[in-house]
Amino acid sequence: MLLIKNGRVLDAASQTDAPRDILLDGEHIAEIAPQGKLTHGDSVQSIDASGLIVAPGFIDMHVHLREPGQENSETIETGTHAAARGGFTVVCCMPNTKPVNDNASITRFIVDRAKAFGHVHVWPIGAASVGSKGEAIADIGAMREAGIVAVSDDGKPIASAKLARQIMDYCRTLELPVIEHSEDVSLAAGAVMREGIASTRLGLPGMPAAAESVCVARDVQVAELTGARLHIAHLSAKASLAQVRFAKQQGLRVTCEVTPHHFTLIDEDVTYDSRFKMNPPLAAREDREALLEGLADGTVDAIATDHAPHEPALKDVEFDKAPFGILGFETALGLALEQLVHSGRISLMRMVELFTTGPAAVLGKERKLAIGEPADLTVFSLDRPWTYDVKESASKSRNSPFDGHTFKGGPVATIASGKIVYKHA
Ligand SMILES: [Zn+2]
Repeated sequence: MLLIKNGRVLDAASQTDAPRDILLDGEHIAEIAPQGKLTHGDSVQSIDASGLIVAPGFIDMHVHLREPGQENSETIETGTHAAARGGFTVVCCMPNTKPVNDNASITRFIVDRAKAFGHVHVWPIGAASVGSKGEAIADIGAMREAGIVAVSDDGKPIASAKLARQIMDYCRTLELPVIEHSEDVSLAAGAVMREGIASTRLGLPGMPAAAESVCVARDVQVAELTGARLHIAHLSAKASLAQVRFAKQQGLRVTCEVTPHHFTLIDEDVTYDSRFKMNPPLAAREDREALLEGLADGTVDAIATDHAPHEPALKDVEFDKAPFGILGFETALGLALEQLVHSGRISLMRMVELFTTGPAAVLGKERKLAIGEPADLTVFSLDRPWTYDVKESASKSRNSPFDGHTFKGGPVATIASGKIVYKHA
């Protein structure tokens, strides 16, 4: 049993914002009561959350754990350790491992490794096509039996509208979301950043915003054709957001996520340092402004990190030769507080929603604080100053543009299945 006492409880599902004590009994929430009113024995282990926020466990629905196949960059053990330090209790790992998670035996391998070595829950995402090659539909039904929560060919888009139609048709019958890395590969070919004044100044090949939004348009129309649940990953462009907003107004089951780096940084921040290289690339100032509006008005469903570790040997090379992607777990909450809450852009409740009920709903699940619900909690501070030192990261990789950044507020304790998986010293 574990008691979280004296905290300010924020639950987006019930819109609760009140002082509460929460008693966890193994894997489930046993009791929630006003402070000091719980009936518990003296022997119970407790966390004093005075001055802190207690929320349902955060979900990161877009991460790369690199196992199997690229264990020099990350493993399920190290990745979930970093996730716990970031306040996440559930992570959804993308299938672009080596081999690709395109069949039930790989899915089972990930589920088993996560049970044995994971610090937090791992919900795998299966490939949409065999090998994510964009030719034939993967064995989605068998992967679903083995535990996947969605399908995606992330790293690249589903190769054609025809294949997207087949995949969405099939996933609609399973009520499984299709997560799209929307990118027109012909417009993006050869590009290493966003096309614009910044790319011209740096002399680096850029891709236009339309590289994303052209594919979003295709995907939304195929979602309309099939009635499937479509989720746009790491949405970065104003024009893409407008299409998601329109699709929602039409009653289509279209959702999207935004990453902390896209709501924090823009193309003008890019230097020749490969820690600023990710896909989609950092966007224009007006795109970031649109994302902030979408985060506030409900168009954006979730904040997801796209945690993408690359070992230093791969990433510490010239900008145009480096792989795309940056670390995300440990700085996500600090950035959300800084850019969204402390800046007055969104309420604290809305931020909690974007980390909990939002991603859960995309995946057809619930996330709430109630008796019998999973004993997953994220405890965080709104004001504790701390500086991110990537050398101390639990990740095996070091590719963060936020190294050395000082934050106001961040994770203090993470509880998964009733166990303390992270606690700030
Ligand atoms: Zn992607």
